Amino acid sequence: MTKEDLWQAVLAQLQLQLSPANFSTWFKSTCVLLQKEGQVTISVPNNFSKEWLENKYNKLIFRALRGLAPEVKEVLYLVERTAPKQKEPVARPLASPEPQQELQDFRADKDTHLNPRYSFDSFIVGPFNELAHAAAQAIAESPGTVYNPLFVYGGVGLGKTHLLQALGNRLVAAGSPSRVRYVSSEQFTAGVVSAIRDRTVERFRALYRESEVLMIEDVQFLAGKEKTQEELFHTFNALYENGKQVVFSSDRPPKAIPALEERLKSRFEGGMIADIGMPDYETRVAILRAKLQDKNFPLAEDVCEYIASHIQRNIREMEGAVNRLFAFWRLNDKTPSLAETKTLLRSIIQSPARAVNTKKIIQVVAEFYDLKERDLIAPSRKKEVVRPRQIAMYLFREELKSSYPFIGQRFGGKDHTTAIYACEKVARTLQESEMLFEEINLIRQRIYSG
Ligand code: ADP
Ligand code: MG
Repeated sequence: MTKEDLWQAVLAQLQLQLSPANFSTWFKSTCVLLQKEGQVTISVPNNFSKEWLENKYNKLIFRALRGLAPEVKEVLYLVERTAPKQKEPVARPLASPEPQQELQDFRADKDTHLNPRYSFDSFIVGPFNELAHAAAQAIAESPGTVYNPLFVYGGVGLGKTHLLQALGNRLVAAGSPSRVRYVSSEQFTAGVVSAIRDRTVERFRALYRESEVLMIEDVQFLAGKEKTQEELFHTFNALYENGKQVVFSSDRPPKAIPALEERLKSRFEGGMIADIGMPDYETRVAILRAKLQDKNFPLAEDVCEYIASHIQRNIREMEGAVNRLFAFWRLNDKTPSLAETKTLLRSIIQSPARAVNTKKIIQVVAEFYDLKERDLIAPSRKKEVVRPRQIAMYLFREELKSSYPFIGQRFGGKDHTTAIYACEKVARTLQESEMLFEEINLIRQRIYSG
């Protein structure tokens, strides 16, 4: 069991023992930092939490830890004020941790940092991801020839990383091409920054340009980073002209990435664009079954149905749910009933009606288009806010059934006819534009998932 799984299992147990309010107050922002030589170090957000956990909950935590990992002798609590973004807040998304993605040259299997867990074999294919899957398969067969570049996009937790790493693993296993490079956008950006600082730009370029396959994840994070975009543009051209394969992933289509240079956008769009949508019910059941089988975990049919019908937008959350129930099974020696499942999963499965409100829609739309919330709701006519604002208005209407006068009011004190116009325009464009349809789906996914 990894330390993250261990901590998840402890949380699952604590959640059964504490009131929801206490659980959420004291444990929501914790995560595990280290497990070493009988010591487990837990990150807490402030001194107050630290004292509280040490004095009030230490026994409970320790007992739960010992029950799962008898080698644990001591629990330490460490205050981390600047909770880094990449650390998952434990109680919510409940995921297996992101694989360590380091800048690495994957010449040989042993030093590859691709996570071997991610393979084509464990990737379930359904209508929602079959295009992206087929493209990755084709590239595995003959990189650099068929779909170049491949641009895969889709919402959080829907399999982009799994697919890219499966491709990387397959290529590494085949041994040819030998230089497969897999990095996150943050790593690429950090590389550019330190190359500039250390005056090693030439070396940085050479390093990347010797890749035979280059994969860069989550390129939406390159928004606004001009120097990095420029390097990427030239790196891309150098590789492309030499017939090397390039693969990108993103949470949205190239067109919807704000502050991205036109020339880079057109490179991203120059090959194959494949989206990963939302899995349908049957595929969700199939994925769930595969995960259960993997763990030899006999979960009752009604429980499976409950999970598959309530966790719709994020496969990682589905895995989180399975892990939590799995921990219950191991601790109690009985599989959870439907009622127990509902309790165990209540922090993952929330009713959408509760999660969404006007503030949320404004916040998500502004963030999605990299705008300030205040610009989105102000009466400005700036070109870059007009379309996002219309989409926000449309979502008010669709998701909240807001009245037109209310929508107009909320967006800069406009007349209800402006609201009607905006909603109808978006609805009309949706009829013709699959792109817009997907874009709005991605926004919806964020509205309901966070
Ligand atoms: P993303 O990179 O799109 O945020 P990930 O690739 O990290 O998503 O997927 C989240 C989790 O869901 C991973 O543990 C992954 O193995 C699992 N997963 C995603 N898609 C599939 C699939 N089609 N079949 C099986 N597991 C999947
Ligand atoms: Mg990912």
